[in-house]
Formats: sequence, structure tokens, C-alpha cells
Amino acid sequence: MKRVAVLATAAAFAFTLTACGEEGTPTPSGGDGSAAPISDTCSASGVTFTPDTKAAITGSTTFDKIKSAGTVNVGVKFDQPNLGYKDATGARCGFDIEIAQYIASKLGVDPAKIQYKEIPSANRETAIKGGEIDYYVGTYSITDKRKADVAFAGPYFIAGQDLLVRKDDTSITGKDTLKGKKVCSATGSTPIQNVRDQGLTEPENIVEFKTYSECVSQLLDEKVDAVTTDDAILKGYAAISPDDLKVVGAPFSEEKYGIGLPHDDKALRDYVNDALEASFKDGTWQKIYDETLGKSGATATAPALERY
Ligand code: GLU
Repeated sequence: MKRVAVLATAAAFAFTLTACGEEGTPTPSGGDGSAAPISDTCSASGVTFTPDTKAAITGSTTFDKIKSAGTVNVGVKFDQPNLGYKDATGARCGFDIEIAQYIASKLGVDPAKIQYKEIPSANRETAIKGGEIDYYVGTYSITDKRKADVAFAGPYFIAGQDLLVRKDDTSITGKDTLKGKKVCSATGSTPIQNVRDQGLTEPENIVEFKTYSECVSQLLDEKVDAVTTDDAILKGYAAISPDDLKVVGAPFSEEKYGIGLPHDDKALRDYVNDALEASFKDGTWQKIYDETLGKSGATATAPALERY
């Protein structure tokens, strides 16, 4: 009986995550009669982002390009509930999406004109370096290694690596209980690197996919035992399948989320940092957070910027 419910949920979940933009009405998960998932349908925080028509940045080649195009190319995630999510109607929502919209408005671009590009964790540096996107907002940890290729404004949020397991699993209680367990994460992410570097499980038990939603399907399907990435991401998946999944709640890293920017555009980086700072001070950040990521079940306040 339980197994049937889990599979029904997994099927509905997979549909939700893959059927974006296609015809049809998504089936709510919780096939066992539990509450419908929180993120089947996108809803915005209600904050309005009015384009700053006077926006100007001296010495930013990226800004010059955005201004003459009248649009901006923004890299995002699409399958991370309450962070970077696209629903079955094609609507986008979440904390990262609204931060991206806020920055666009500060650059003088109407958020409705944003060209979203779905870029998985492993391709972010290449997309920024190659000019495919002007900036990236998607659970992107600021690291020294990445700073060799790209620049970061922020941090605008601090998360921690954690574990998502099946609800009835009592054997996994933290990072030191993963030996012999199949652990799934995304290619090119800091969490998968941490699993490898710290030898948390055997190399043959590390499973990787392009996206975390693929890992979550594997977990529901009992093909892996845990999904590891930032708690902010995992809480969104747990909130979608509260009867089947839980976050262990023992974070073991510090993930400082930054806005990924072209490496050499210091003028743009300073401007985006100023914009973030203004949102921290005037309550915009808090309002966005409370109405998006805050719905995954945690309170937070804006972090301190680390300008360089
Ligand atoms: N924040 C981590 C990273 O940047 C994990 C989340 C992600 O892959 O986007 O690698």
C-alpha cells in the first residue's frame, strides 16, 4: 500500500517537473489523500519590481549590451521549489527568480522581458564566460575555485549542505552515517565535491545527475538512499512530498549564494551589490524571502555582503 502511494507521488512529481509548458493539468501529488504539493502552481510574493528608467553603469560592457538589447539573459534553475521553479503553465517563481527580477528592474529592464535560460549546476561558469547569460541566480555558492572563472555579488543567502531521505529511514542521521548508502547529487555542485573530498560514501555509491529533481525521483523510487545538497533546496522537495520525504536537519557546510557575473565587469558587480544592499535595508529582500523560500519552513534574515 505504502509503495503504491510512493510511486503515485513520484509519478505526479515527475509530471510536475517535466510537463512545463505542455498541455494538461498536473495531477497533485499525495496520491494517498494527503495535502496537495505546495508548488504545483507558481505564486509570486506580491512585490512589484518597477524598472529603474534612469539606470546607468559607467564602464560596464555587460550593462551596455543589456541597455541596447532592452532585455537581459538570466541563468536560472527550473526544478527547485520555492527557489527557481517553473510550473506546468510555464510560470516561474521562487526566491531566486524574484531576486533575478529585482536585479533586472534595477538594471532598467522590465522583469517581463527577462530571457530565462535554464542552466544546470555544471554549466554555469561556461554560460557566464561564453556570454550566453548576463547573470545567474540559482543556488550558486560563492567559492574561490569558481571565482577564477566568474565574479559574484552577494552573498544574498546562506544555506548549508544537508540530506534528504525517505520518511521511514532511521538509519541516516547525518553525514557520518552514509557509508554503504547510495548518495545522489548534481554534477558540478559543491555538495557532490564535498561527498567525494570527505569520502562520505564509497565512490561506487555516488550517483550523479544533471539536476536534483532527477535525484529526488531516484530516492522516491528507492534507487538511492539519500539526496544531498543545500538544505534550502531539499526543504522544498520535502514540502512537496511530506508523507514520503524528510530533511535530516544536520547541515555540514556553509553555502553562500551569490549572483554569478562576468569575471571582469567590476562596475556591474559593484552595482549589483549596491542593489542587493538596498533590498536588505528597505525590506524588499525580507518580503521576497518570507513569501517564497520562507514557505519551505525556515525563517531567515539577509546576510552581510562580502564585497571584493
Ligand atoms: N549551492 C551549491 C552549489 O552551488 C549546490 C546547489 C547547486 O548545485 O546549485 O553547487
